[in-house]
Amino acid sequence: MPEPLSQSQFMTMALREYYRTHESVGQDFTTAPEISQVFGELIGAWSLDYFTQLGCPEAITFVELGPGQGTLMADLLRVGRLDPNFLKALNLYLVETSPILKAKQKALLPSPLTWLESFNELPKSSSPLLIIANEFFDALPTNLWERKDNVLFERYVGEESGQLIFHNQERGMDKGPDALWEDSPVANALLHCICSQLVSRSGAFLCIDYGYEEGQGDTLQALYQGAPSPPLHHIGKSDLTCHVNFKKLGEIARSYGLGVAGPCPQGSFLKALGIDVRFEALKAKNPSQHAVLEAAHIRLTHPLQMGTLFKALAVFSPPTLTPAGFL
Ligand code: SAH
Repeated sequence: MPEPLSQSQFMTMALREYYRTHESVGQDFTTAPEISQVFGELIGAWSLDYFTQLGCPEAITFVELGPGQGTLMADLLRVGRLDPNFLKALNLYLVETSPILKAKQKALLPSPLTWLESFNELPKSSSPLLIIANEFFDALPTNLWERKDNVLFERYVGEESGQLIFHNQERGMDKGPDALWEDSPVANALLHCICSQLVSRSGAFLCIDYGYEEGQGDTLQALYQGAPSPPLHHIGKSDLTCHVNFKKLGEIARSYGLGVAGPCPQGSFLKALGIDVRFEALKAKNPSQHAVLEAAHIRLTHPLQMGTLFKALAVFSPPTLTPAGFL
């Protein structure tokens, strides 16, 4: 019988196979940039604003974590053209492991571009750093813990009668109230790495994802061909995600003395960046697209759609600046 795997070990293996072999974005799930060009345009405006606040440096390192089909970056760069200094300063890096998505990004985006397998590979430089990540942190492996009657348990994936099952392994005594919580050492380590770069070279990190601030328990979910599916079915063929623990990310960033804005609901973040005005302008220019544009606008901002569950968090340096979108 194979050795049991912790939930994060299981997720790491399953996701590696999934992203190696599946197109994912646009096939199994849709993301904000795929819903409307306005999303990437507003992130572009956000980036231009922070670049200006930094004093329009001559060189800027710009990293997108998990660019999917490259749509967000394409829309962002279209807005970037409004400021030739921004485009001239830009050194673009895409952190992507999926060969299928890399090919899509290459076909869509203008060169020069550099791909990295992980953020740790980013070349050393002193130029300011902008990093964006939309629906990237939710794809990072997460462990599940439970404390019951002062005993700590960790969720494992094992086998019983030829079937994969979840089971709890005892991890020793742990005094405290009964609780169920997740942690993602990979997400935490990545944020530490981002923060140590931001401290030394200034810049900002914008993280948009679905997540929570207070303990949420078990949030592991799987999507198979666009529909919810049990996480232990269709392994390597379904997308596995967990909600992002924004409270933890904020705590890590604060421990570096960096500025932290948010998390704030995606709906209010996009509204503060001007989403209503942009959609009105698009509707006025494309009357035949009115209904499609209205639907996209609602989907991105309505509290019952992506407006509240999705959140934006900015980590920035120097902490005296004010990233746009956070009221
Ligand atoms: N940001 C895009 C795609 C989100 S899906 C959008 O909003 O549409 C997650 C993206 O992260 C995909 O591009 C996926 O291939 C990439 N990815 C997932 N796990 C990764 C990892 N561990 N390292 C690098 N890229 C990863």
